[in-house]
Amino acid sequence: LEKVPSDIEIAMAQTPKPVATLAAEIGVSPSELELYGQYKAKVDLGILKRLEHRKNGKYIVVAGITPTPLGEGKSTTTMGLAQALGAHLGKVAFANVRQPSQGPTFGIKGGAAGGGYSQVIPMDEFNLHLTGDIHAVSAANNLLAAAIDARYFHESTQSDKALFNRLCPAKKGVRTFAPIMLRRLKKLGIDKTNPDDLTEAEASKFARLDINPESVTWHRVVDTNDRYLRVIDTGLAPTEKGFTRRTGFDIAVASECMAVLALANDLQDMKERLGRMVVADSKSGEPITADDIGVTGSLAILMKDAIKPNLMQTLEGTPVFVHAGPFANIAHGNSSIIADKVALKLAGIEEGEPEENYGYVITEAGFGADIGMEKFCNIKCRVSGLHPNAVVIVATIRALKMHGGGPEVSPGKPLSDVYLNENLDILGAGCVNLAKHISNARKMGVRVIVAINRFTNDTEAEIALVKQKALEAGADAAVPSNHWAEGGKGAVELANAVIDSCKEPNPFKFLYELDIPIKDKISAIAVEMYGADGVSYSAEAEKQIEQYTQQGFANLPICMAKTQYSFSDDPSKKGAPTGFTLPIREIKLAAGAEFLYPLVGTMQTLPGLSTRPGFFDQDLTADGQIIGLS
Ligand code: ADP
Repeated sequence: LEKVPSDIEIAMAQTPKPVATLAAEIGVSPSELELYGQYKAKVDLGILKRLEHRKNGKYIVVAGITPTPLGEGKSTTTMGLAQALGAHLGKVAFANVRQPSQGPTFGIKGGAAGGGYSQVIPMDEFNLHLTGDIHAVSAANNLLAAAIDARYFHESTQSDKALFNRLCPAKKGVRTFAPIMLRRLKKLGIDKTNPDDLTEAEASKFARLDINPESVTWHRVVDTNDRYLRVIDTGLAPTEKGFTRRTGFDIAVASECMAVLALANDLQDMKERLGRMVVADSKSGEPITADDIGVTGSLAILMKDAIKPNLMQTLEGTPVFVHAGPFANIAHGNSSIIADKVALKLAGIEEGEPEENYGYVITEAGFGADIGMEKFCNIKCRVSGLHPNAVVIVATIRALKMHGGGPEVSPGKPLSDVYLNENLDILGAGCVNLAKHISNARKMGVRVIVAINRFTNDTEAEIALVKQKALEAGADAAVPSNHWAEGGKGAVELANAVIDSCKEPNPFKFLYELDIPIKDKISAIAVEMYGADGVSYSAEAEKQIEQYTQQGFANLPICMAKTQYSFSDDPSKKGAPTGFTLPIREIKLAAGAEFLYPLVGTMQTLPGLSTRPGFFDQDLTADGQIIGLS
């Protein structure tokens, strides 16, 4: 272990090949490539049209056991597996991952480039601003937030007539509706295109959205763990004439704009989804959308480049698409559909080409499989129409031991002997966590390969035990993998197991259908995936279910916002807990991203910084070298 240098040292020691060279190797044409410096580029979506006729490559999702502070290594395994397939087995292989948020990068977790000899490079650019997509998402989100409050202010301080006149000013004596206003007129059933033709009543109906300030669900966002922004009062300056409002911030990567980016199938789909986002209700309870606010076009403009996936590479020069960054606990936790579709075409085969020429797309789903994989299957795949050939569930022996009753780890204290020496009893007990994730995947028909991400003190008997438990629970294979210490070479056995599983049939099915009541969908996830006895709802959640059902949003899939540290709502319940009821505090609507978003227990939508965040270890030297980024 001591021989492996730090993540940033390894990453910095390797000079990446020019991204234009990489693009040529994988079949992206120069006209489809937009360079951002030498080592990263965006890929134009026109490529999807050009490769439309191809059959898709194989689609593998990487998820994990329930996370512990001991680490599982999903990103490391995603990179290692892609390196093994691409650089050692001669396959076309893509690793598709999310762009990391600055919240964890400067907070506790660190970046998400993978680790050891299995990383995306340049890892500093990957972990920091990349090509600015998160900034673009934040800008779009916050423009909408500003537009809502400004509209509320203007409506509160002007008569209907004055509002209408300002919304449709005369230019050279002629008044016109902006094109987006025609959509609002249509929604209101007013079949007129000339502002002068509207009756006074119609003009009032058009001009006044009648925003109920209590109902504004749209938050501002920031990509920093800034806990003091969780609840704020806005409009305190005298210029806002007392129209103050209590609101808050969320982290940018949990925003609906980010989810829209990740779930859009193309540019037009993204724009339409942005327009459908519900931001508040009117005083009579009608949902008010971004379209009603009039800002859809500008949101799409702000995000027009963000929709193009970013091409980077692993330490061994295999391609990586980095795109979108939704958190997995408070958002849907998967990189973009567009990036996966582009990679699947590039890894695909022409009509008549032999089957063995298929390439592989390894896409990562955040946190434990109860969260990332469940949302991958029931949200992402439902929207994309794609189905996985297999899931790789990443486990480490030390993390499984914690699920089996191993002691908590405390910062600054040496690791307990349980984690450093063989302990089959505790490990065996902890395998219930892995087994539950495997059986969850099997419930959706997904084939499972377990990657045992090796640490140097894992013993052969321990590995054999995990293998046995994984196979008993329904995995196709469980393979120790040494990619952190050896790069792709260390994951060749894992890669071969993946290739074998991809040859088998994969009768994928969703966990729930969309046309059942909201509570039945939540219950399917809580009972089937988490192992709960049932679900309890706060009075507010009950009210929201009724409201969304009445407003016609009951047919959306469910995106649970739950702690990643347990199948239950209680992070201290390790293993595979039973006998609990899942408490739903509140349910939010993401009408544009198209999911309902129940907040489980005390889940926060803006993380905070701890006493000892990662930034204490980070520095920039006089010659511009970054230190301490992990
Ligand atoms: P996850 O994606 O599950 O959050 P990562 O792949 O980002 O985990 O890994 C977290 C950290 O653990 C990284 O710093 C990585 O270098 C380290 N790590 C991963 N696998 C190993 C391993 N087998 N041995 C030692 N450290 C590892």
